[in-house]
Amino acid sequence: MVEAIEIKPNIGEFDLPRGYIDENNNIYRRVLLRELTGEEEDILASNTMNLFTKLNKVLANCILGFIKSDGNLMEINDKNKLFKIVREMCVTDRLFLFLSLRILSVGNIYSFNIVCPTCGENKSYAVDLSTLEIKKPKELCQTYELELPSGIKVRMKVMTGVEEEMIALDKKSVNDSLTYAIFVRMLELNGHPVNIDIVKKLPLKDRNYIRTMIAEYEGSIDTVLEIRCTHCLNEFNSLLDLGKPSFFFPSET
Ligand SMILES: [Zn+2]
Repeated sequence: MVEAIEIKPNIGEFDLPRGYIDENNNIYRRVLLRELTGEEEDILASNTMNLFTKLNKVLANCILGFIKSDGNLMEINDKNKLFKIVREMCVTDRLFLFLSLRILSVGNIYSFNIVCPTCGENKSYAVDLSTLEIKKPKELCQTYELELPSGIKVRMKVMTGVEEEMIALDKKSVNDSLTYAIFVRMLELNGHPVNIDIVKKLPLKDRNYIRTMIAEYEGSIDTVLEIRCTHCLNEFNSLLDLGKPSFFFPSET
């Protein structure tokens, strides 16, 4: 006979850049997560769900609860409720949750291969995910108003998983990703409803201003990786790609 041992997944507490706001306007900034298990690996590998359903299911599985400001844990055992909560969370918090899950499950060092745009050499690099620069939003609100440099007034909303999904499901968004990133957040322009053509025609200085203010109101995580080619010493930037299977499963390159 051998003694059976209990398998206990790793659990960790993480401080969200923004925080989850419940229906009574209570703010929860700290979240309790458990590491990924085979159950989530199967979800991520499934061919029957779209990417956003998979990501929301993984988050709903791994969030054990939110920690109140008094230090008490608010457990949420209803997976459907959690699925709805993670879908409506701000994109910065969602990105932060995926990074935290990665760190908790397989560690903070992420190794990747990349081809240098100057010399064409494919080399391996590593980044410490716990050192990415995280900025908290300057103010906690769901909608906000801006006066653009051109004098146009707009009303904006904080982007959540719902708008992320909207962009992913609209095939036209592939070629106009910068416009869509503004469009899905814009509720009104000079008091009128917004369409994609209006957003496209906005002057560049207005669009740049909007992007700066989005980072102010949503917070941000800097996922630009600065790489110095070990072959030709040229420096270049690359974006951290969380969509790669190797991000969560380092053995799959
Ligand atoms: Zn090079």
